Amino acid sequence: MMRHQSIQPRGDAGPSSASVWHVTAPAAPALESLKGEIETDILVIGAGVAGLSTALHLAEAGLDVVVVEADQPGSGATGQSGGLIAPDYIRHSPETIGKLIGRQAGEKLTRFLGGSAQYCFDLIERHGIECDHRQDGFWSPAHTETLAETQRTYAAQWRSRGFDVSFMERDDVRQALGSHRYCGGLRFGQGGALNPLAYVRGLARAALKAGAGVYAESPITSLSHVNGVWTAQTPGGLVKARRLVLAANGGNAALHPAMRRTVLPLHVVEFATAPLSPEQRAHILPQGGCFTDKTPYVFSARYDGPGHLISAFPKSFLVGPKAFHREAKRRLVGHFEALPAPEIDYLWEGTAWINTSFLPEIYDLGDSAFAIQACNGRGLSTNTAIGRDMAAALAAGSVEPLAIQPCAPQPVRIHAMASLAPKALMSLAYLSS
Ligand SMILES: Cc1cc2nc3c(=O)[nH]c(=O)nc-3n(C[C@H](O)[C@H](O)[C@H](O)COP(=O)(O)OP(=O)(O)OC[C@H]3O[C@@H](n4cnc5c(N)ncnc54)[C@H](O)[C@@H]3O)c2cc1C
Repeated sequence: MMRHQSIQPRGDAGPSSASVWHVTAPAAPALESLKGEIETDILVIGAGVAGLSTALHLAEAGLDVVVVEADQPGSGATGQSGGLIAPDYIRHSPETIGKLIGRQAGEKLTRFLGGSAQYCFDLIERHGIECDHRQDGFWSPAHTETLAETQRTYAAQWRSRGFDVSFMERDDVRQALGSHRYCGGLRFGQGGALNPLAYVRGLARAALKAGAGVYAESPITSLSHVNGVWTAQTPGGLVKARRLVLAANGGNAALHPAMRRTVLPLHVVEFATAPLSPEQRAHILPQGGCFTDKTPYVFSARYDGPGHLISAFPKSFLVGPKAFHREAKRRLVGHFEALPAPEIDYLWEGTAWINTSFLPEIYDLGDSAFAIQACNGRGLSTNTAIGRDMAAALAAGSVEPLAIQPCAPQPVRIHAMASLAPKALMSLAYLSS
């Protein structure tokens, strides 16, 4: 397990704009930038959880793989994230997904998504990754009676497929979360939380150890495919590869013309309190675990090892940067009676790139190239599992191991306007909160 250094509350200094993970994660592995020309079988672009899981599993399968990262591992959505491991659909259930994409594909996706949390925790154990992980459950609490009623049926759907998911009644949920806001909720026993920066740095170390090449501070500035060879240029070097995996999340759009205008940005403010006292912790999430609710102005909460309570709010047009600190406090006070005057020590921003389906997606770009585009603010365990399956598919030369059927990317219509939609919707959500 990760050792916890003693963390001093920041007090009057005001919140740090670096994430709490930068303070609590073990140091990053020392990585070189790409210099000169190299050749590999498979080039992976992007060292977030998707790219590094793909590279780790490829290297373990004995394939020749190189990862090239613009910045440092985890500098994208992975390191900005809240670190919740949430093996649930954002908008669906095992039955409703079957109606949307067909029964067989739906069952495959549910097995994949439901099992992704366990896979993630198993991978952490297998590689001895120190990332403050805790498999103490993920809650999806219901803020209305109607949702609570629906969730009763969802629990039965998950359970009949072998997953540890139960519906908990109002009093149990209020007691378990320490919030009066909810009237029931689903508990996913295989869910939990981790330090996402520590996790992705651990994946980088494991990938290196397994034989992958991992280069940092090397943004791909051009990418071309000529005579069966992909050539990726960075400011200091060049990679030639037979096969390609784009795992650059929002950065995929700039790398391949077919990826342009395929995702929308959801800007999020994450924050962490000063470590809470034992008395406060006895009331807020007293049994551990973490949760994300289904309100339009979504609310989530979890602890880390030193006892920071970590939460978030989506950015809107109505709360500007000067009001972020106040908004963070307002959200905590509104949800937890035991926290009437929270101190915020860390407040950082991130961008979760969302697909209009809100489902993880894999694109077949032709020319032996695939793109993973599965952020959706919910990708830590799913993208880990996609990396495993992508490696298996590349090793087998067949898409059969992929639970997500690769398709051609589709640009979002009137993309420039649609890109403003998440922030506009969050403005309405803020007003209703
Ligand atoms: C604020 C926030 C909170 C979130 N909270 C959670 C949560 O609690 N639980 C959860 O499961 N998910 C959460 N998510 C979503 C989760 O973080 C993502 O689904 C996941 O990390 C995406 O991983 P990825 O590897 O696909 O992308 P990323 O982590 O974004 O990695 C992509 C990498 O590609 C690199 N790159 C981009 N362009 C180039 C280029 N031209 N050349 C080389 N490299 C390039 C970037 O620098 C980056 O490191 C959250 C996301 C955000 C933003």
